[in-house]
Amino acid sequence: MEMVATIAEVRAAVAEARARGKSVGFAPTMGALHEGHLALIRRARAECGASTALQDPEGSLQGPRGALSLAPPVRQAQGEPRTKSRGGFVVVSIFVNPTQFAPGTDLEKYPRDLASDSAKAASAGADLAFAPAVEEIYPPGDSTFVEVTGQLVDCLCGPARPGHFRGVTTVCARLFHIVVPGRAYFGEKDYQQLLVIKQMVRDLHFPLAVVSVPTVREPDGLAMSSRNAYLSAEERKAAAVLSRGLFAARELFASGERDAAALIAAAKRVIAPEPRLKLQYLELRDAETLAEIKRVGGSAVLALAAYVGQARLIDNVVLG
Ligand code: AMP
Repeated sequence: MEMVATIAEVRAAVAEARARGKSVGFAPTMGALHEGHLALIRRARAECGASTALQDPEGSLQGPRGALSLAPPVRQAQGEPRTKSRGGFVVVSIFVNPTQFAPGTDLEKYPRDLASDSAKAASAGADLAFAPAVEEIYPPGDSTFVEVTGQLVDCLCGPARPGHFRGVTTVCARLFHIVVPGRAYFGEKDYQQLLVIKQMVRDLHFPLAVVSVPTVREPDGLAMSSRNAYLSAEERKAAAVLSRGLFAARELFASGERDAAALIAAAKRVIAPEPRLKLQYLELRDAETLAEIKRVGGSAVLALAAYVGQARLIDNVVLG
């Protein structure tokens, strides 16, 4: 695996891979890689390296010479298999994105360990790691943001972290333009972010598929997160109660309960007694629109944010 720091190097490596017929998978991260991140890379490796059986949304992008060509796709007779894929090219970005941190939060102390990240990304199957300096992504004098508006950002983490999602969509839009992936991989751990990115991709006609990857958890249920590194031993133990609360609600849902208040109360009964946890929100919302719901009809997400000491952790379960 190669590690590069400039846009020019990424573009050259991706162009070469495409010229060899490879499809490009991309996992954006802020580094301090753990098994959650590696699950995205492994999934990209498995899907982008696979051949024609997969419905490849990138097919429509690949002109005869691949690369960044927007030439029309080669026409195929119906039922004819698409030109055999010659494997994939998996890119991971490692960039602690300053625009998604509010002033005075953990931007400075966010864990950084490029050497270890490089080894982990390589072992999970990445071909290229892109670890740019801030000025590479945000050149001096730039003044463009990308912002999703409305319900998806006006609830849950949106009001709690003003400007956060604008920072996330801005950096992802820039990274998508640099890498031009056919598939981009995001974790369900950051469920609201996943929906916001899907919305941006749809609205701005990015020619890529957003692939969601289930949350990877520690053996005691705690969702893996780079921010877990902030926890003391006692806080770490207390943090496991968050997922236990969500799982209690999920069990109640499995037994037939559909009332939002009852499901939320089931989670709170587990979480509230732990004095080290300070819930910021615990809400049940529609799994696609994030609209508030009183009863679960289709699919819902039970999402929470909580402070455990200095660390702000988020987690969720999808019901239905
Ligand atoms: P981050 O480095 O925290 O910005 O996360 C980068 C990507 O990894 C995002 O798409 C996250 O949703 C995903 N991710 C982080 N933690 C997990 C986890 N425990 N399970 C699955 N995906 C995760």
